[in-house]
Amino acid sequence: MQTNQRVRCPNCGSYAWRNYFTSDDFSHRICPSNQVIQIECPACDYLMLMCSRNARVIEAYAPGITSPYLVLSIDSSQKTTLKKIILSTSQIIRKLDLP
Ligand SMILES: [Zn+2]
Repeated sequence: MQTNQRVRCPNCGSYAWRNYFTSDDFSHRICPSNQVIQIECPACDYLMLMCSRNARVIEAYAPGITSPYLVLSIDSSQKTTLKKIILSTSQIIRKLDLP
């Protein structure tokens, strides 16, 4: 069985490697079958680790693709507004008395 293939990088289009392997490091709830696909691009540093059975992503990194959780740089007046929003939100949560 071939365990690695030369493929095109989905991020930059250069040649990348797709490897298939098993590792006890990944035999957890994300990939219980312990069969992992890794796509790695030496040109742009793209990395994708996913379970080959359920297609769930274990780890991923793609340069140039921003995260939806990216914290944008803000100026001081925006910081003050943001602090007020956080404070009022925490007061609302306290009033709700959630467990
Ligand atoms: Zn690439």
